[in-house]
Order: sequence, then structure tokens, then C-alpha cells
Amino acid sequence: MASVPISFEFFPPKTDEQRATLDAALPRLKALAPEYVSVTFGAGGSTLSYTPDTVNRLREAHGLDAAPHLSCMGGTRAEIRALLAQYQAMGCHRIVALRGDLPSGMASHGDFRYASELVEFIRRECDGGFHIEVACYPEVHPQADDAHADLRHFKAKVEAGANGAITQYFYNADAYFRFVEAARHAGITIPIVPGIMPIANFAQLKRFSDLCGAEIPRWLAKRLAAHGDDVEAIREFAADVVAELCNRLIAGGAPGLHFYTLNRARATLAVCARLDA
Ligand code: FAD
Repeated sequence: MASVPISFEFFPPKTDEQRATLDAALPRLKALAPEYVSVTFGAGGSTLSYTPDTVNRLREAHGLDAAPHLSCMGGTRAEIRALLAQYQAMGCHRIVALRGDLPSGMASHGDFRYASELVEFIRRECDGGFHIEVACYPEVHPQADDAHADLRHFKAKVEAGANGAITQYFYNADAYFRFVEAARHAGITIPIVPGIMPIANFAQLKRFSDLCGAEIPRWLAKRLAAHGDDVEAIREFAADVVAELCNRLIAGGAPGLHFYTLNRARATLAVCARLDA
């Protein structure tokens, strides 16, 4: 077990099969006593009801402190206002506010262009009602002009009212430490919790990483590939690598760990079992 608070991220299941997968994972992950869990928000409006439904189920049926993600793709001011009211009625006190990404083929976003505008709106609408987490990028957001601009935009989210930040995942601890140092130098004082992606499936991880700009170090990709189809060997190796990363992060002062679980328990549990007490 980790010596810092941990949290788990889930995506809202849309089919019976996905619901069964999440239901199987929940008791095993809950046993690790997460500080809270969060539920992602799909872009494009089509999944508008999935996130609140899942948040409600995690809170009511599983007794978890579930926090919704909300993105600028959540629609108009009025639609976002209605969602916020729904979350407050459920008793949610934490929210993860994001810009989101436009799904391919979709031409326009909602009323807000950047996450900072959404944070400002949430603060104005429900002042004090939510602890707001935002995203940040130790390896720089893929659309940012450069690292300085990205840091300025991160600071704008903090000035708009963010209380904490969760990073995009990374496998290079130094990228995190350098980023936190730069943030502190820029006057950002909120906790910056590393986002951790346990490795269950290398092909899937590579696809995600290409999309979100997270770097898989060459040595790690090569070592994972060298295990070929030996799933057990990949699992063991990957859990060792990610746990070592987590232990370094905690030893270096990370205030918590946020696991991208992809709704499965096994890879996250394997990492947590290897954490220094
Ligand atoms: P922003 O902070 O708005 O930044 C987006 C880009 O715009 C950056 O390059 C930034 O430098 C730039 N920028 C910001 N402000 C300005 C400005 N004023 N002028 C010019 N450029 C600017 N996506 C989902 O769809 N649903 C989710 O549930 C979800 N959960 C996530 C959880 C975490 C912890 C993380 C790290 C990411 C998550 N994402 C999610 C992905 C996220 O939506 C994307 O990474 C998205 O591309 C950026 O979101 P953001 O909130 O960081 O955007």
C-alpha cells in the first residue's frame, strides 16, 4: 500500500459487458481504500448521461466518493449548469474540469474554448461547491506552442480557481520533477498529483500515447516488445517498472497517485502491491 492517498479513474461503461467488467474490478480496487474515484466524460454530447449515471451508481451502490469529469465539450452554459446542479444534488464535492478533445468530424466545441474558462464558470456558478481538479502535462500538451506557453495556460487554470492538478501519464520521473519545479517557480502552489498508467496491453498503450503525446521511453518499448506474446512476463515486468516509477515519485514528494485503471483491477493492483509502505 502506498504511503500517500491514491485515487482511481474509470470510464463510464456503455454496454452490459463493460458494466460487468467494471463491477468485477470495483470490490478489488475498493479494498485499497482510495481517497476518491473519478469518472471520465466522453466528448461530443452523445455520452452526456453516462457519466452522471456512473457517478451516481459508484456513490450509491458502491459507497465510493465518486467525482465526475466535465469537459468544455459538455455543451452550452445552460447544459453545464444543469449538470453541475445534478452533481451537487448527488453530494459530489470534487470535479475534474477539462477542455476535452473534439471528436473527429465535429467542427465546434461548446460555449467554452479552454479548460480555464470552464473552471472560471464552475467557480462563479457554485462558489465553494466543488474542489476543482485540472489536467497538466509534464511532457507538454501536444497542441501547446511550447513548454512555457503550456505552463502559462496551466497557471491560468489555477488562477481561475483550480484546487489541484492531475498529470497526464508519463514513464519518466524526471519529467514530473522538472515540471513541478517549473510550476513552483511560476508561483503555482496547488498539489500536482501524478497520473499513473499501469501497463496491461502494450498495443493499446502505444495507441493512447500517440494520441495524447505521452512518451513511452525507447528502452521500455523495446523491453516490452521483447517479451512477445508472453502475457505473464509482460505483466510482471510492467508492474515492476510502473511500481518503481511510483516509488520514486512518492520518495520525491508526489502528494498522491491517480491511477488510470481502464476499468480493470489487475494491472493497478499489481503495481500497488509493489509500493513501498
Ligand atoms: P486546456 O487546459 O484548455 O489546454 C488545451 C491546450 O490549449 C493546451 O495545449 C494549452 O497549452 C492550450 N491553451 C490553453 N489555454 C490557452 C489559451 N488561452 N490560448 C491558447 N492556447 C491555450 N478528456 C476527455 O474528453 N474526457 C475526460 O474525462 C478526460 N479526463 C482527463 C483527465 C486527466 C487527468 C487528463 C490529464 C486528461 C484528461 N482528458 C480527458 C484529456 C484532455 O481533455 C485533453 O488532454 C485535452 O486535449 C486538453 O484538456 P485540458 O483540460 O488540459 O485543456
